[in-house]
Amino acid sequence: MPELPEVETTKRGITPFVVGPVIERVIVRQPNLRWPIPAALQNALPGQRFQCVQRRGKYILLVTKVGTVIAHLGMSGNLRIVPTHKSPMKHDHVDIVFDDDRCLRFHDPRRFGCMLWTVASPHQHELLKYLGPEPSSIEFSGDYLYRQAKGRRVAIKNMLMNSRIVVGIGNIYANEALYKAKIHPNRAAGHISKTRLEALALAAREVLDDAISQGGTTLRDFVNEAGHPGYFQLTLNVYGREGLPCYVCRTAIKCMRIGQRSTFYCTQCQI
Ligand SMILES: [Zn+2]
Repeated sequence: MPELPEVETTKRGITPFVVGPVIERVIVRQPNLRWPIPAALQNALPGQRFQCVQRRGKYILLVTKVGTVIAHLGMSGNLRIVPTHKSPMKHDHVDIVFDDDRCLRFHDPRRFGCMLWTVASPHQHELLKYLGPEPSSIEFSGDYLYRQAKGRRVAIKNMLMNSRIVVGIGNIYANEALYKAKIHPNRAAGHISKTRLEALALAAREVLDDAISQGGTTLRDFVNEAGHPGYFQLTLNVYGREGLPCYVCRTAIKCMRIGQRSTFYCTQCQI
């Protein structure tokens, strides 16, 4: 599933190509994504230019002066730049065609993604307005986590994965951040000191930053018409390592389920 770093990498990859040229038309081959693609998107875009591409959580915002496309890659989606004449493959649901013989092509086999349109501020959109801060923002700190955690008995891992608390920390990144911060994933959030939560906020940011910089090496894939999108293999320190020795203390990594999600941790390092 595309996570925040993949979405950020996608944003960086498409920006140089989609900002600037005039949009000629929008081809919708399959409108029934997670929500139907609104007709307004097809009607409003021709003749416009994208002024910038933003990311909020795992949403990509393609901003014009008359409104904004809100795109989400869902479970299996990707956005690529391809020559307009290149024949669509199965599951290539939408093309936003530019006047320079290129198009932005949305591919999504499982159709859990979306492509919506708003003329209002996208940040006030129903899907975005309740989102917590970005992990990279100043607002996301140990102090912030401490205030959110106060009096709560929820497992810290579940809190970290709650997009109303902080956006974009998926299961893999939550595992890695907790390992790095030496916090047991099942520990009650309200029972963790501010100092340890500061370490956790820092670890979460570092884990995501590392993933984004690894993604940066694959940006050219976005213009390779034969290629696949630049999703990348992360360096993982704890996720998926059940039974293997901890890189710090050599104790075998354990696995448990928290909130239905696989949770990997070291019983010695993480308390
Ligand atoms: Zn260990």
